[in-house]
Amino acid sequence: MTFSIKTHRLHQDGTPVELVATPNMGGTVRPLYLILHFTAGTSGNGAISWLANPDAKASAHLVVDRDGSVTQMVPFNRIAWHAGKSRWNDLEGMNAYSIGIEIVNAGKLKKSESGTWTSWSGQKIEADDVIVATHKHESSPAGWHRYTSEQIAAVVAIGAALNTQYGFLDVLGHDDIAPDRKVDPGPAFPMVSVQSKILGRV
Ligand SMILES: [Zn+2]
Repeated sequence: MTFSIKTHRLHQDGTPVELVATPNMGGTVRPLYLILHFTAGTSGNGAISWLANPDAKASAHLVVDRDGSVTQMVPFNRIAWHAGKSRWNDLEGMNAYSIGIEIVNAGKLKKSESGTWTSWSGQKIEADDVIVATHKHESSPAGWHRYTSEQIAAVVAIGAALNTQYGFLDVLGHDDIAPDRKVDPGPAFPMVSVQSKILGRV
């Protein structure tokens, strides 16, 4: 699994990854940061079709599905709409300064009275796929959907290829740039390890 970037498109083993076009994009991006997200759902196709819908007014450069497969939605020279109201250091509105990756993951879960875990939209999540952990901005533990090893490996490999091309200042979570309203990618995501692998600090 080797990723590279040519003409603003992600290539896997020399071939461009699947592109699903979206109208939800802006002008020229200045890719200083890589921002990681969860989709808050369990379906890659569901996330992609929503982000391709003009009503969503949202998008990401890439979507990484549960099996590690990657779909590009916005070319890397254009602004994708993944960050919303956000800031980091002196920069405000991080869409203009970042590449965004959505990772298919249900995020924070609810536990029913019968003990089963569900996503916010009511999809059942198997107990084996639940991690109980405390978000860095919260004070009590909750259930979070596990990321797959294929997803982590893909995000690391893609992030490293993007970093070679763009020389990121940092890899951040949505919860870093919008801490008062976002919790993704959340405590189930091995952020420190992924950051250091992408940025070559290990
Ligand atoms: Zn997000």
